[in-house]
Amino acid sequence: MEGRPERGGGTVKHLIVSLHDFHPGSRLAVMDQVAELEKWGVARTSILVIPHYHHGRRTCDDGDAVAWLNEREQAGDDLVLHGYYHDRSGNKGGSYFLTRLYTANEAECLDLSDGELRHRIELGRRLWEEQEWALPGFIAPGWLLPERQDKVLRQLGFEYTTRLGSFSQLQKGWRRESQSLCYSTRAAWRRSLSAFWNPALFSRLKKKDLIRLSLHPNDLNWPELKLQIQELVEMALAEGFQPITYRDYAQM
Ligand SMILES: [Zn+2]
Repeated sequence: MEGRPERGGGTVKHLIVSLHDFHPGSRLAVMDQVAELEKWGVARTSILVIPHYHHGRRTCDDGDAVAWLNEREQAGDDLVLHGYYHDRSGNKGGSYFLTRLYTANEAECLDLSDGELRHRIELGRRLWEEQEWALPGFIAPGWLLPERQDKVLRQLGFEYTTRLGSFSQLQKGWRRESQSLCYSTRAAWRRSLSAFWNPALFSRLKKKDLIRLSLHPNDLNWPELKLQIQELVEMALAEGFQPITYRDYAQM
């Protein structure tokens, strides 16, 4: 696929903030993130929703979760399908690096057959159908989806998917390479590495026209990371990056 066609009239720079792993148990944490981001100047985000997190309570059965998502959808946020279970129960194999070291056994879509992927997507998107929400995007847990399965997403009508290093417009056939800022908070060494790595990545990204920031529910619980994330967001806005959702970016 080619890069996104350049548009005339000067470069518009975009900041896409995505909030990963919304489910009934993380609702309050994600609500806090939305409130913080609004204070920092980002009013629109893409929210990655897990329909049946770790085989526990379904998002569709939690009235508070559905009501809040509905509010966000009405406000212009982009509700993204983010796997179905977000775990690997029932999956077999997978490399140790990708399933245990890179993710905590959450790489649900790493090795599903096309039929099983399609089945889980059909199950997951019932919530969107019931609520009549738009569903333009699918993002796999840990961004781990074999490239060959983009065709399954395309056939199911998804406009876009993303990976750690790229955004793909599936229907128009363009792809944009862009590494996402992303924090790993599972252990102290991971937090230190994230706090070191992300500002370096940011200084490279601010010379381009797209910055992606991916947050997980616990990221703002660490005061030093929260402060850094706030600073990066405020610097991006000061540099002229405009907040946009993946959904709206896919329409450009
Ligand atoms: Zn996730």
